[in-house]
Amino acid sequence: MAVPQNKITRSRRNNRRSHDALVAGNPNECPSCGELKRPHHVCGACGHYADREVVALVEDIDLDDDAA
Ligand SMILES: [Zn+2]
Repeated sequence: MAVPQNKITRSRRNNRRSHDALVAGNPNECPSCGELKRPHHVCGACGHYADREVVALVEDIDLDDDAA
């Protein structure tokens, strides 16, 4: 098994990790409902993408209807 030849000091380890922080996303406002959403993704709140509905919401689907 490979073993490090020298100890990595706390300083050197922490200096390496100084670039490891995660950056927050850049959310856009949904044009139909105003909720914040990820750019180029379907809105999770209203199911719209580029001013048209592409995903129907669960509340909008009528399960009691005998359409089958
Ligand atoms: Zn929306």
